[in-house]
Amino acid sequence: MPGKLELIVGPMRSNKTAELLRRIETRREYARQYVMLLKPSADTKAAAGLVESRNRNGCGKMEAVEFPSHDPWPVLPVIAETEQRIGKRVECVAIDEGQFVHDLFLFTKRLLDSGHDVMVSGLELDFRGMPFGEMLDLSWLVRTYAGNLTELVAYCSCGAKALYPQRLIDSKPAHYSSSVIMAGDNYEPRCERHFVLPGRPH
Ligand SMILES: [Zn+2]
Repeated sequence: MPGKLELIVGPMRSNKTAELLRRIETRREYARQYVMLLKPSADTKAAAGLVESRNRNGCGKMEAVEFPSHDPWPVLPVIAETEQRIGKRVECVAIDEGQFVHDLFLFTKRLLDSGHDVMVSGLELDFRGMPFGEMLDLSWLVRTYAGNLTELVAYCSCGAKALYPQRLIDSKPAHYSSSVIMAGDNYEPRCERHFVLPGRPH
């Protein structure tokens, strides 16, 4: 039987990671499931091998299997080895910051097809307000594999719902031509009216 996909989306500071960690704890504690948490190498907000939530009321941090963002496929043998070692299935695979993962659509589909439940959290839009990686494509998998999609909300400082991650460099809005993935960049959630993108072509 194929697995189900739980997709957790929302802009920066909408507590996506805290929500992912909470769901992992629930599965581990009450369903006694083996949940493997994966972390793409492009996620640099916590130390190596750790996923950390910025929300201080949340579950804090959790150990994760780190893999190169450009190639998730070596994780498959790690799952197989883990299943051999623990003598049972890895019931669920959780992926944080899914927008960074190359081949995310096919990789997630492969996990679902081989019977693993999958939970993915991440950003749907990048700092330009354009689709980020393959996150938007995963909604097809949610419909097809009877999973669910949770949209978390963040607010602009004006109080309106924030749709966009506003990238700031030295406290100024980043130019449209800056690179999509940038180490040590800084964001705040902004609404349509307060989202600023110098140099945008359209
Ligand atoms: Zn606003």
